Amino acid sequence: MKSLRTIAIKEAQSRINPEVKAPAAKISEFFGVNVFDKKKMKDFLSKEVYNKLISAIDNGELINQEDANHIATAIKSWAMGKGATHYTHWFQPLTGTTAEKHDSFFEPSSDGPIEIFAGSALVQQEPDASSFPNGGIRNTFEARGYTAWDPSSPAFIMESAAGKTLCIPTVFVSYTGEALDYKAPLLKALNAMDKAAVDVCQFFDKSITKVNASLGIEQEYFLVDLALYNARPDLVLTGRTLFGHMSAKGQQLEDHYFGSIPERVFSYMVDFENEALKLGIPLKTRHNEVAPMQFECAPIYEEINLAIDHNQLLMDLMEKVALRHKFKVLLHEKPYAGINGSGKHNNWSLITDTGKNLLAPGKTPKNNLMFLAFFVNTVKAVHEHADLLRASIASVSNDHRLGANEAPPAIISIFLGQQLNEVLDEIEHSRISKKVKEDNALWLGIPKIPQILLDNTDRNRTSPFAFTGNKFELRAVGSSANSSAPMTVLNAIVADQLVKFKIDVDKLIKKGEKKDVALLTVIKKYIKESKDIRFEGNGYSQEWADEAEKRGLSNIKTTPVALDAYVSEKSTELFAKINLFSKREAHARHEILLENYYKKLQIEARVMGEMTNSMIIPAVIAYQNTLIENAKGLKDLGLGEDALETPLAIIGKISEHLKIVKNSIDTMLEARKVTNHIEDTRDKAISYDLEVKSYFDTIRYHTDKLEQIVDDSVWPLPKFRELLFLK
Ligand code: ADP
Ligand code: MG
Repeated sequence: MKSLRTIAIKEAQSRINPEVKAPAAKISEFFGVNVFDKKKMKDFLSKEVYNKLISAIDNGELINQEDANHIATAIKSWAMGKGATHYTHWFQPLTGTTAEKHDSFFEPSSDGPIEIFAGSALVQQEPDASSFPNGGIRNTFEARGYTAWDPSSPAFIMESAAGKTLCIPTVFVSYTGEALDYKAPLLKALNAMDKAAVDVCQFFDKSITKVNASLGIEQEYFLVDLALYNARPDLVLTGRTLFGHMSAKGQQLEDHYFGSIPERVFSYMVDFENEALKLGIPLKTRHNEVAPMQFECAPIYEEINLAIDHNQLLMDLMEKVALRHKFKVLLHEKPYAGINGSGKHNNWSLITDTGKNLLAPGKTPKNNLMFLAFFVNTVKAVHEHADLLRASIASVSNDHRLGANEAPPAIISIFLGQQLNEVLDEIEHSRISKKVKEDNALWLGIPKIPQILLDNTDRNRTSPFAFTGNKFELRAVGSSANSSAPMTVLNAIVADQLVKFKIDVDKLIKKGEKKDVALLTVIKKYIKESKDIRFEGNGYSQEWADEAEKRGLSNIKTTPVALDAYVSEKSTELFAKINLFSKREAHARHEILLENYYKKLQIEARVMGEMTNSMIIPAVIAYQNTLIENAKGLKDLGLGEDALETPLAIIGKISEHLKIVKNSIDTMLEARKVTNHIEDTRDKAISYDLEVKSYFDTIRYHTDKLEQIVDDSVWPLPKFRELLFLK
């Protein structure tokens, strides 16, 4: 019988690319056709309701029921005109993926069947599934949860071969009003940021009334042929390979990065890009990444809530479209040991309603003071709450990147680039002139900040959080993550810091200090206080780990410990101040994340056991038997000891590895049983890390050795060279 691996390899080699065609020659002609955007709102709504909806979008004004009915009817007309038969609230529960529950517009009535979509259905839905992660918030007797319309993210139509569905972006909260998703806290943090940033802007420019955070998300991913993927139970069930010796050629020749894109992959990229563009996702960039079969795409940055919805939607699309091309897209942070993992760089900045990027150095010294205020407050916020930021990017899969010989390290630090570092040092050490002259070029002794920062070439790829000219780039986010978690934290901590900044500056002004002197005095103080978080060197080096320890920076390598920051006293105080999470919400979230951690390890451990016992060991024994037959035959021929040496040596080697593998699998199983009995979730998660996961490396090491010894034709699992190079 042919093995699944053999069949899969054959299949992978005979793929024919499906035809991919853009809906129009120019992207601008089909961009956003499936989105109920401002233009369509204008077309389908009365002027009055349109204005109300816009002010709900821009300023969070409430929409009354009558207007909601009007809007729902308009959206329905548009959606049905495009062929939609169903609608769904689209939300982001803490499972990490998106969720939807479809209802049709169709309803029987006394006058015959009709299609309706009431305002109430637009505004609120009650997903009856009580089985989303809730960390104990929803007891079964209050199992109801609500999804509530988020007008700031436009409705869209999801197309599939079998039908079209109108999707309404929503938040997901419990019956008692607690957040059960990623979006609700994000919106709260953004609101806090808007208020705090506008307040600080008043020191510089009274015309600013709104500040939006912006986000551009670079998405890394791997592709693998679907048949090969299906022949690997570990990939199917855990998203990563639990076994597999690195192929002789990996990424060492550095011939993949920015290389020419293989035809089959290109066809896939164009296909999902077209789908994304129709949904208003402004994809702009595509290229090969460092590892073989690793790629990246990036849209143009957008308002943060929308950018995150778009990224969630994009991941979903990428998975769906991949199947058409008989690919599987791997969004896991580390599908293959031995080559690069994947991240999701979060490029973040703050933009005012006057169109100014608060993190872009300006031309005039006065603008620079404004820039410095926001810049230094960000640095200070990260210094203050590095542990919380670390917690926000922690997951079982991201543990393979952070602090595990992989970019970036688990130590949170900020890279500013030489020029800005010098600027901050200069401010820190200079005396603040009390004689302020409005248009003095070296006003207040602020060093000139060159505008060419945009093109700064001294990019430090080893830093988890880097300033890149006019934005900060959080690189530590995992490729499969919902960016809301880190972006909620980042915006919350910077908002909180800006509030403190305003208080500190106002105090000095009240004491009679001139405004600009007050501003610079506080900035100077913050630069001093947050100095330890700044690091320009190689983030991967041992020297940095040592240095960071001296500076008192945390280096938390695993998720269950990193997550402590969600329930620390410091974070609880922060959450309360900006009304982000109640104690109950924070604890629930903490619990959910811990559960997610150990459950995923539990699955990995089970898959490892199953694959070892039922796939790997039988193949190894089959080969060993062949060798035994061979040895017997040689003996029968009357050949001496000499001739038997080689088969016996191989048989012995196999036995050695096999013994260790089998023993480790069995002890791991025992350890799992003990761990499963632990009540406390945090203890259980830590035990899964220390007592169960700790066997993974040994088991893998020895099975990978066996993979190299055993007859290739009986090895059951597609090998790395096939997963990574057959395309
Ligand atoms: P790279 O880091 O690969 O050089 P780019 O500089 O092109 O990438 O930018 C990466 C992402 O950052 C893109 O999504 C881009 O739109 C986004 N970006 C650029 N400027 C800003 C900004 N001011 N705020 C937020 N994101 C931005
Ligand atoms: Mg980048």
